[in-house]
Amino acid sequence: MASSDNHGTSSLDTDTVIVTAGRDTKGQWGFVNPPTVRGSTVLYPTADDLHAHRGEYQYGRHGTPTTKALQQALIALEGPRCAGVGLVPSGLAAISTALLSVLNAGDHLLVSDSAYRPTRNFCNGMLARYGIETTYFDPLIGAGIEALIKPNTRAVMVEAPGSQSFEMPDVPVIAGIAHKHGALVIDDNTWATPLYHRSLEQGVDISIQAATKYIGGHSDIMFGTISANDAAWPKISEGIKLLGTCAGPDDVFLALRGLRTMSVRLAHHQRAGIEMAQWLKARPEVLKVLHPALPEDPGHAIWKRDFTGASGLFSIVLKPVSQKAVDALLDAVKLFGMGYSWGGFESLVIPFDCSEYRTATTWAPGGPTLRLHIGLESLDDLKADLERGFAALKAAA
Ligand SMILES: *Cc1c(COP(=O)(O)O)cnc(C)c1O
Repeated sequence: MASSDNHGTSSLDTDTVIVTAGRDTKGQWGFVNPPTVRGSTVLYPTADDLHAHRGEYQYGRHGTPTTKALQQALIALEGPRCAGVGLVPSGLAAISTALLSVLNAGDHLLVSDSAYRPTRNFCNGMLARYGIETTYFDPLIGAGIEALIKPNTRAVMVEAPGSQSFEMPDVPVIAGIAHKHGALVIDDNTWATPLYHRSLEQGVDISIQAATKYIGGHSDIMFGTISANDAAWPKISEGIKLLGTCAGPDDVFLALRGLRTMSVRLAHHQRAGIEMAQWLKARPEVLKVLHPALPEDPGHAIWKRDFTGASGLFSIVLKPVSQKAVDALLDAVKLFGMGYSWGGFESLVIPFDCSEYRTATTWAPGGPTLRLHIGLESLDDLKADLERGFAALKAAA
């Protein structure tokens, strides 16, 4: 942390930290941003230096000035409990790398039933083949998680909130119980980002970002980050070294560039998302809005206690209507693009159905479900777009 431009001023607001941390203008010939260092080989001046592995950088896979800048910025943003941040090529790679780094054959893992589906596929696929057993739990289980802990339970994975269904787990309570039994806690913190949810300060040991989403912020990179505390960082750092996962230099640069503007973007996503959620709640076609920042949401009290903000992603439950009518809505909207991922500047809509894969809970929301990402377009234009969609839905019903 020696050469950050905000040297040692740890009392700075996160809005300032996100702009200043990890900058080394002196070392960058005065330029604000680090160069995109494309490098594998690092040359040693003497045989003695080589034998001693002397020098700040050893080999491209283990870090460059570009990766160091992003790591320092993220460490500062995560707060004083963060011991290190690993950079990997995708959000899913962050999840798989974290799990492989902390689990051994014969271990037991607890995973929230609302977890990102590829997380489940990894647990049920590769982890099962390596002799690691996964049990899924109701995200609202709270202190009830204690009954699921076995003598060999080594990790508990939460997603706060679930990125389709938005159930809000009680992370501090789950973490307290997990630690009592010697298990590490992993949080997929992609929805709120460390800006709105300092999960390491809520008792989480390993906090994951699909940086593809809000950190990148422009739908132009795949990227993942693994932030860990003192208890978990040695394992994560070793796991990354053993697996050889490293992110490409251009993506590292773009992740850092995205991070610098994340606080203004998120503030807009939050405001627009909440206003749109309230507008949708009043629509006759909508049965329910799933958004923890709405006061009537079942997860609201926990969100208010543990989070300092909300992002632009939430879901709605439509009143029962045919698939044909839902598809007519999806085909009628033009500003809301249909596609996977989220966290970019653009608005998105995607239908989803958790009932196909849940095992610890029953997903029966009472109607078809759509997930929306509210982008940076004008809210009036977005509402007009959805009006068009609802008109098409009605016409096809
Ligand atoms: C997108 C996403 C991931 C995976 O990120 P990729 O970069 O697409 O691999 C993980 N968790 C959540 C909650 C996500 O939304």
